[in-house]
Amino acid sequence: MSFLEPDIPGRPGSAPGSIDYRFARRQTLHRFRAGEIGADEVCDAQSELMRVALNCSQRSTAKCPVCAERNIRIVRYVFGPRLPPGGRPVASRREVSMMAGRPGDFRCYTIEVCAGCRWNHLLQIEPIGSEKTVSDSK
Ligand SMILES: [Zn+2]
Repeated sequence: MSFLEPDIPGRPGSAPGSIDYRFARRQTLHRFRAGEIGADEVCDAQSELMRVALNCSQRSTAKCPVCAERNIRIVRYVFGPRLPPGGRPVASRREVSMMAGRPGDFRCYTIEVCAGCRWNHLLQIEPIGSEKTVSDSK
């Protein structure tokens, strides 16, 4: 699905094979606060992402960096074999770790979403399948 495709470069994350988008997030927020990009460009969560954020997400203690009115919701999608092409939303970190035991190349996309102003940003893509250690050792 297009809303999950990162159009910004990420950096290697702390876990092997993971990509961290927090630097890109800071840059986006900096450009927004500087007036270089408008709210319509950063608060553009699509309806499916909003639905998942409201029904199948983890509530963060952090406030939205754009509107500062609502707490951020952490949305996680897992992509991999035998999962829907658009990924499967998982509500919690614990559910992700349960899926991590399955054989195959699974990836977890972590996105923060504000249910108020529709701010959304990809935070991280990480491999969670049990084959990650196999491919890393090649
Ligand atoms: Zn907001």
